[in-house]
Amino acid sequence: MNIGVGVGIIILKDGKILLGKRNSDEEKTSSLLNGAGKWTLPGGKLHFGESFEEAAEREVFEETGIKIKDTAVICINNDIVEDAHFVTIGLLCENFEGEPEIKEDSITEWNWFLLNEIPEPLYFPTKKVLDNYLKKKFYIKKEKLLYLDDSYLKEFDAKVVKVENNKVILNQTAFYPESGGQPADNGKIICNNIEYNVIDVKKEKGEVIHYVDKEGLNVNDKVKGTIDWERRYKLMKMHTAAHILSAIINKMTGALITGNQLGIDKSRIDFDLEEFNREELKDYFNAANDVVKFDLAIKSYTVKREEAEADGNLCKLAKGLPSGLKELRIVEIDIFDKQPDGGTHVAWTGEIGKIIFLDAENKGANNRRVYFGLE
Ligand SMILES: [Zn+2]
Repeated sequence: MNIGVGVGIIILKDGKILLGKRNSDEEKTSSLLNGAGKWTLPGGKLHFGESFEEAAEREVFEETGIKIKDTAVICINNDIVEDAHFVTIGLLCENFEGEPEIKEDSITEWNWFLLNEIPEPLYFPTKKVLDNYLKKKFYIKKEKLLYLDDSYLKEFDAKVVKVENNKVILNQTAFYPESGGQPADNGKIICNNIEYNVIDVKKEKGEVIHYVDKEGLNVNDKVKGTIDWERRYKLMKMHTAAHILSAIINKMTGALITGNQLGIDKSRIDFDLEEFNREELKDYFNAANDVVKFDLAIKSYTVKREEAEADGNLCKLAKGLPSGLKELRIVEIDIFDKQPDGGTHVAWTGEIGKIIFLDAENKGANNRRVYFGLE
């Protein structure tokens, strides 16, 4: 997959900004970054041999009929969705000729908006260029995901980089955002002795959003984050236990995993399998608990996609390796199992204690669901 370069142009007139509404018809919007029906800056892809300013002039004229005169590059962003990757160059123009007209099918209307009355929904690369402009930042660094390197980190220092009502983004975080069947962490963000409870954490457009229970945090605040460790540690044990069980069942039956959901007291894994024999299930749990007792080490590292694809044993997911990633994080249980995974795990299998069979269910023709807990 190639990385593209795009330009997005902020055209200002009397404190108002020009935005166009993208066609809600996916075929006409010509956007690779999920733009259908959203408000966007004029702009487009850089052509071979063009300067950023030339691309901006051409795109704005093609899309609106406006002739922009002086433009300046004001920011750069790295815009990534699952199957597309663009570097977006943001430009600013305050000197132009003409009024916007609809010139292409991809946009259904052009309008001027006050900077504090920006319409929703906003195309996310546009939102990022506007954020840069309003914060006078050239490049907003992606937050560091501390939990990927150290799943035992319970406290960390950070700086607030963005606040939107009760949504907070930090420059680095140890809070795990809900994904891959592992629920979000809870905990606290503390600033000037005021505690903000983190009630949910989600990953949106590549950013980790902390949902707090009250407003009051501001950009540039220095904060301390603390993870609800009891909850997180239970989920880490559950997650590693799920890998062990999946690997055993995959080895014994060849079944692939079609889904999973970890919980504090009860977790489940779905397998693409015709039948489960209760006796055999008992054997699988015994074998999994042997792996626990061996107290094997668990480590994580990243490999190139080609390397992961070449390893036939790596992927136990029915849907295959996650798409659109050049590098994959691998979680390896020493001598026993490797899986691509973005979650948090214990360091030794012995920490899990004991994996308990709770229930098994048939969920459709080839779908077998297993519930387990820990003791
Ligand atoms: Zn996992």
